[in-house]
Amino acid sequence: MPPICPVCNGLVPLVFDCPRCGRPVGDLGRASDALGPYAPYEPGHEESRTGGSMEDMACVHAVRCESCGTGSEVTVVLHP
Ligand SMILES: [Zn+2]
Ligand SMILES: [Zn+2]
Repeated sequence: MPPICPVCNGLVPLVFDCPRCGRPVGDLGRASDALGPYAPYEPGHEESRTGGSMEDMACVHAVRCESCGTGSEVTVVLHP
């Protein structure tokens, strides 16, 4: 049985502060599912997509600050 993401399963809330204004950001769900009107604009995160193996042990969530609109990604490490 593969490890499950506790955030996706509602076991724990995703807590992350906006890097710009410090307010808590809203969880948009898994980044792979949330790629809609928002295109990631931080090239530093691209490496996590090409790695492959990390995706089995982590769940990347897309988040967006409701206050200033800053979009980001939060990696939730899974514990098997
Ligand atoms: Zn998740
Ligand atoms: Zn913000």
